[in-house]
Amino acid sequence: MTEQLSKREITKLVVNFYKLTGKSPCLKHLAHLPFSKNRVMKLFGTWNNMLKISGLKLNRNKISEITCFLCKKKVARQVKEIRKSKRSFCSSECSASYYTTGRKHSEETKRKISESLKAHRIFLNTEKNI
Ligand SMILES: [Zn+2]
Repeated sequence: MTEQLSKREITKLVVNFYKLTGKSPCLKHLAHLPFSKNRVMKLFGTWNNMLKISGLKLNRNKISEITCFLCKKKVARQVKEIRKSKRSFCSSECSASYYTTGRKHSEETKRKISESLKAHRIFLNTEKNI
């Protein structure tokens, strides 16, 4: 377990990880990798340097294609940005018009939810009485 891997072996593992998962490994993946952070720091200086030497893209620059939720146009985005929001839009216009039209819907939805909650409460009360 304490076997120390060489620079070459680590780069090989990292490339294999990328091939398997389609992602460059980051610190949270260390648990699944047979080397320690200290080992990486000792051999490569930094984690990103290890990725660079292995010929992999740095995680923070990873670009992915998203489809605009509204107009369905495809645009490139940083993966980090995509994770932040549930819905992706090609532009602020698209996101603005989605949320403005969305508001009208939500009034209707709110009414429905409160109605069903009321019904639920009545149900619970009758259950208690039995
Ligand atoms: Zn759009």
